[in-house]
Amino acid sequence: MSTAGFNAQNGTGKGQAYANGPSQNPGVNYNMTHQPTYNQMQAKAPAPPGPGLYPSGPYQPVPPVSSYQPGPPLTSYPSAPGQSPLSRPPMAGLASHTPPQSASPSPGPRLPPAQATPPPPPAVSSSSYYPSPQQPMAPAWQYNTAPPPPMGPSASMVTPPRGPPVNHVNPAASAAAVPVPPPPPSSAAYSTAPPPHMSQSATQPPGPVLPPTSLHGYTQPGAAPPPMNPVAPHTYQPSRPGYGPPPTGPPPSGPPPTMKPTPPPTGPPMANATPPPPRADGAVAGNGPQATNNYNHVDNNMGGLTQPGPPGRHLGHYPSLPPGYQNTSAPHAPSPMHPAMQAATQPYTQAPQPYQQPPGGPGMAQLSPSLAAMSLQSSTPESLRVVNLLQERNLLPPSPVPAPTPCLPQDLQKVNCHPEVFRSTLTSIPQTQSLLNKAKMPLGLLLHPFKDLSQLPVVTSSTIVRCRSCRTYINPFVSFLDQRRWKCNLCYRVNDVPEEFMYNPVSRSYGEPHKRPEVQNATIEFIAPSEYMLRPPQPAVYLFVLDVSHNAVETGYLNVFCQSLLDNINALPGDSRTKVGFITFDSTIHFYNLQEGLSQPQMLIVSDIEDIFLPTPDSLLVNLNECKELVQDLLKSLPTLFEKTMETQSALGSALQAAFKLLSPTGGRMSVFQTQLPNLGVGALQSREDPNQRASAKDIQHLSPATDFYKKLALDCSGQQVAVDLFLLSAQYCDLASLGCISRYSAGSVYYYPSYHHQHNPAQVERFQKDLKRYLTRKIGFEAVMRIRCTKGLSIHTFHGNFFVRSTDLLSLPNVNPDAGFAVQMSIEENLDDMQVVSFQAALLYTSSKGERRIRVHTLCLPVVNSLSDVFAGADVQAITGLLACMAVDRSVTASLSDARDAMTNAAIDSLTSYRQSVLTIQQPGLLAPACLRLFPLYTLALLKQKAFRTGTSTRLDDRVFAMCQLKYQPLSYAMLMIHPALYRLDDLTDEGALNISERTIPQPKVLQLSVEKLSREGAFLMDAGIVMYLWIGRNCHPNFLTQVLGVPSYAAVPENLYLLPELDTAESQRTRAFVGWLRDQRPFFPSLHVIRDESQLKASFMQNMIEDRTESALSYYEFLLHVQQQISK
Ligand SMILES: [Zn+2]
Repeated sequence: MSTAGFNAQNGTGKGQAYANGPSQNPGVNYNMTHQPTYNQMQAKAPAPPGPGLYPSGPYQPVPPVSSYQPGPPLTSYPSAPGQSPLSRPPMAGLASHTPPQSASPSPGPRLPPAQATPPPPPAVSSSSYYPSPQQPMAPAWQYNTAPPPPMGPSASMVTPPRGPPVNHVNPAASAAAVPVPPPPPSSAAYSTAPPPHMSQSATQPPGPVLPPTSLHGYTQPGAAPPPMNPVAPHTYQPSRPGYGPPPTGPPPSGPPPTMKPTPPPTGPPMANATPPPPRADGAVAGNGPQATNNYNHVDNNMGGLTQPGPPGRHLGHYPSLPPGYQNTSAPHAPSPMHPAMQAATQPYTQAPQPYQQPPGGPGMAQLSPSLAAMSLQSSTPESLRVVNLLQERNLLPPSPVPAPTPCLPQDLQKVNCHPEVFRSTLTSIPQTQSLLNKAKMPLGLLLHPFKDLSQLPVVTSSTIVRCRSCRTYINPFVSFLDQRRWKCNLCYRVNDVPEEFMYNPVSRSYGEPHKRPEVQNATIEFIAPSEYMLRPPQPAVYLFVLDVSHNAVETGYLNVFCQSLLDNINALPGDSRTKVGFITFDSTIHFYNLQEGLSQPQMLIVSDIEDIFLPTPDSLLVNLNECKELVQDLLKSLPTLFEKTMETQSALGSALQAAFKLLSPTGGRMSVFQTQLPNLGVGALQSREDPNQRASAKDIQHLSPATDFYKKLALDCSGQQVAVDLFLLSAQYCDLASLGCISRYSAGSVYYYPSYHHQHNPAQVERFQKDLKRYLTRKIGFEAVMRIRCTKGLSIHTFHGNFFVRSTDLLSLPNVNPDAGFAVQMSIEENLDDMQVVSFQAALLYTSSKGERRIRVHTLCLPVVNSLSDVFAGADVQAITGLLACMAVDRSVTASLSDARDAMTNAAIDSLTSYRQSVLTIQQPGLLAPACLRLFPLYTLALLKQKAFRTGTSTRLDDRVFAMCQLKYQPLSYAMLMIHPALYRLDDLTDEGALNISERTIPQPKVLQLSVEKLSREGAFLMDAGIVMYLWIGRNCHPNFLTQVLGVPSYAAVPENLYLLPELDTAESQRTRAFVGWLRDQRPFFPSLHVIRDESQLKASFMQNMIEDRTESALSYYEFLLHVQQQISK
C-alpha cells in the first residue's frame, strides 16, 4: 500500500507489501530444530520406570503432540517402542492438560504439530511485518531459520583453544575437595589424597554422562508427601467457604500418588582442607565458533538510505512548525480519578470496574440485534472521531492511556478478562482475513498470564469441566442450552453438564450451573486433580551459579547477592521439600557439598571443564530446611572466599552444563550471575562489538548469537523442566545476543546491570538489591505449559516471549514468573460468518512452589465485525504498538534493523492510508486518523527512537539487545513506558486530584508531551522510562524545591550522582517521594532514579527520550507526520 520506508523518503521507494496472511506455525521449526537433542538424551537414558516410580530420565513430551495426532509416532518426539500413550513415563504428565484429545481430535483449524517441515529461511525483501503465505514469519527469537547444523554432543560443538588448568595441584584428578571457609595458610598442602570423584567412579564414570537417574532427586529424607488437593490459600471469596465437591456429589479425587523414600545418601568422601588457590593469570582466550552471518542482505542496496540524513537536509525539506501548532489545548479534560492508573494499583477484582458501555446488551440470545443496534447507534463513536494530526497537537491524555473497551453487550463485558491480563490489538475482530488485510493492522494477543492478582477465584474440584471436543475450559462465554447441556464457545460442540457441576458452592444451591464460579469469572484457577499429574509435582529447586572470577569480585556483586539471599532465605517460595544448591566458577567449576551432618560446607573443585561431571551428585542440591545452617554458613563466607583471586577466565559454558546436570533429575530454577564475556571452554565468546561503529554503522550487526551453544543448552534445560535466569553485571561487552539465548528458550528472564560496581555505581547497586528481593520472593510456577485456544476459524501463528514452542499452540515454560509477558500473532483462517463473538482462552498449567498442580485459565471474548470502520473503531493502539515492537525485534534479527524500521513506519502509513481510503467518507486535507489511532504515529516514532531500534546514535550493542529482550517479554504496560516514557512536572505538585491509597496521598501530575518545549528552567521534571527514572532540575529551579525536596541550598549544590531523594520532613518532600514511590510500586522491577542537571553526563539519555524533538539523526514528531502524510498521499 505505502510505497516507501521511513528512511527512504528522499528517493527510491520500496514496495512494501503489507500482507496479514496466515503463516506456517513456527513452533514446528523448534521441534525440528532441537529434536536430535531429545533423541540423543533418550538414547542415553534408561528405560522409563514403571508406574508409580519416579521418572527422572528422558524427556518425553509425547502426549500433547500425540493428542493431536493419533496416527503414527511423531518424528519430533518418538515414543519408546511399544509404549502406548497411557503408559508413558510420568514426565509426560505435563501433557495431561489435554488428555482426552487423543480420543477426539480437535475439529479446530490447528495444524498438525510436528509433521510440518521447518519453514524455509524467510526471503525478506519487503518491510512489512505480515508474512505472505509464501514467506513464513520467523518465529519468536529464532535467529537462524536455516536448518541447524547437525548436533553432536555439546562438547564437540565448540573446540576453542583452551588454556591449561593453571596452578591446579592435581590436574590429572579433576576434582579436589576443600572445606569452606577456613582460609588456611597458603602453605597448606593441596590435596594429595585421591580426589573425591575417584572413589565414586563405580557409580559416576567420568565423561559426559547424564546425572544419575535414581530416585534421589525427589526423595530427600524428610520429604513431604505429595499434596492431596489441599484447601486453596486463596478462596473464591474470603467470607465464603472454599470450593469443594457438592455434599452429595462424587467423592473427591482418589488417593494421591505416593513416593518411595530412599535412605539418605552417605556422606561424601572427605578431603584435606585446602582452599582454592589463587591462580596466575594464564588466560588463553577461548575462541568460540563464529556463526555464519544470518542477515539477509536482500535490502543492502537500500543501505545508503537507512540513515536519516543530516539535519540540514531535513530542515530544508520540511516546513517549520505552523503557528498555533504548539498551543492547541488537549482534547480531553483531565480525569481526577485516572482510571488507568487506578486499574494498575487497585486490587484486581473479579468483577471489573464497570466499563463505559452503550446502554443495552440484553443478553446472549439477543446478541446479534444488540450488536447491530450498537453499530448503528455509534456510527461515529469517539474512537472514530476524525483527528487531523497536523493540527491537533496535544494528543496525549493527561493520565496514562487506558485500554479500549470491547464493544460488547454489558453483561458479557462485565465478566470479560481484565485487559492487563489479556488484551487484543483489535478489540473488534474482522470477520474475514481479507477485511483484516484491508485494515493493515496486526491482529494479535498480549498476555500477562501469571500476573500477581490480589483476588483470584480458586476452585478445588474433582471434575474440571471442559469441552469434550476441543478441551476448552468452561467459561463465562459458553451458552447453556438448558440445565443439562452447554455449548462450547470455541468449537460449538454441545456438552453435557456433569452432575457435580449442578451444585453451586457459592450459593450452596443445586441446579444453577450458570452461577458456578467457572461461569462467572473470566480469570480463574483450578487445583488440578490427580489426572493432571502423571508424575508427582516437583519440589521447588533453586540452583545459584555464581561468577567468582577476578572481574566478578571487583564488581562487589557477590556481597549483595549473598546478603540478599541470607535476608530472604525464609521467603523463598517453597515447602518442606525445597532444595537449594550453589556452583561457583572462574576457569574451573566449584561445587559445594552441603550435606546435612557436615560441620561446614565443603568445596569441590572440578578443573576438567571439557568433560564436566558432578563430584558428589547427591549432596550438592540439599533440602533447604534440613541444611539451612550450612547454606547460611556458605553465604556468609562466599564473599571473602575469592577476595584475593587473580583468575580472570570464565568457563561459563561448563558451569551451565554442570548446573544442567545437577538440576536435570528434578527440574527447577537456575539463577546465573555473570560479569564478563565467557572466554574459556564450551560456549566461549569473543567480542564482536566495535565501539567506533556504534553510531555510524549503516546497519547493526551481531544481533544474532555467535554460537548456538546457549540455545541448544536452553532447549535441553527446557526438556528437563529447568529454566535459566541470567543476571548480567558488567561494564564491558558480554555478547548478550549469545548469552541471552540460555534464558530465552528456557523461559527464563534476563536482568542487566551495565557498569555495575559496588562503589562507583550506587544506583545500580540499589536496583540490583531491590530486583533480587523481588526475584527471590516472588511467586514461581514450575514445570508449566501454556496453551492458547481460540474460536474455530482463528489461528495462532507466531509467539513472542521467552519459552519453547512445543506444538502449534503449546508453550513449554519450565518456570513461569508473575512478571513475564507474552504476545501472539493471529490470522483468520476461515470466515467468521454468523458469529457475533469469538473467544480466546489461555490455560496455564503449573506446579506451585507448594507442590500443587494448578491451572490458571483466562478467557477473553471479543465481538466480530464486518465493516472496516468497526475494525478501526476497536483498534487498541498500545497493544498494536507492543505487538509491532515484538515483530520488529524478530525482523531486526532475521533480516536487518533497517528493514525492521521501515516495516514499523509502514505499519503506521498503511493503516492510516487504509483509514483514509476506505473509512473516511468525506475527504479533507491534513493527516487524518481515527481518535483511537491518534497516538499511532507518535508511538511509531517512539519505537524508531527506542534504544532497541534507533540508529545514528551511539548505542552499546548489549544495551540494544537487552532493550530488545525487554520489548519481547515485558508485559505491555511496562513495555509502553520503555517505548514512550511518561514526563511529569514535579516542582509544583499539589494534592488536587490526588489518589488516596492506604492513607497515603499520592499526587497525580499530568503526563506531559516528550518535548523540551514542555520543560522549563524554573521547574523540575520527572521522566519515567520504566526501568529508569530521570529527575531533571532546571537551572533556575525554584529554591523551594531545591531546599524542601532535594535538601540543597542552590542549583549548583545538586550533587552529580544523586540517586536518592532525601527523606525530608517537608510537605514537598513527602509529596514527591510519595509519587515516585507509587510509580515504583506499580512495577515488579526497581527503576533507578537519577537526579540530573544540565551538566550531567546522563542528560543525553534524558534528552534522547524527548521523542517529539528532532535530533541529529532522527526526525521530529512533526517532521515524521509530514513524512507519513506524504506517503499516504502517494
Ligand atoms: Zn469445544
